Amino acid sequence: MKVDGQCHCGAITYEAEVEPDTIQVCYCADCQRLSGTAFRANVFAPAEHFRLLTGEPRKYIKTGSSGAKRVHAFCGDCGGPVYSSAVEQPKSYTLRVGALNQRHELGRPRRQIWVKRRLAWVPRIEAAEEIDGQP
Ligand SMILES: [Zn+2]
Ligand SMILES: [Zn+2]
Repeated sequence: MKVDGQCHCGAITYEAEVEPDTIQVCYCADCQRLSGTAFRANVFAPAEHFRLLTGEPRKYIKTGSSGAKRVHAFCGDCGGPVYSSAVEQPKSYTLRVGALNQRHELGRPRRQIWVKRRLAWVPRIEAAEEIDGQP
């Protein structure tokens, strides 16, 4: 389905194509730190349909515990997340479900990763595959 999204201040807008019911919830320490909350909900958008419409995000290169580098794009004015992707020639963009205007129509999470880092008070999401660490 076609989706569009924006940062909080609206300077950065974008559109993409995503599959409904393919949300991935991540409980890893990086997602907790970068989102400021207990988990992050993502959906994957093939690069060929992802298009920035307005604005130019700032980019932070995150180095994970595995050594893998990811680009984290965000709004330099409001700090709102835009996407994460591979550093070189991304094949897909990982979009933040809460930033998409169609977030209520996107369906359910299909998978949860880094479940071993899930905070004890976070309820389990039934019917979404659980993976302890990085798939
Ligand atoms: Zn903004
Ligand atoms: Zn994560």
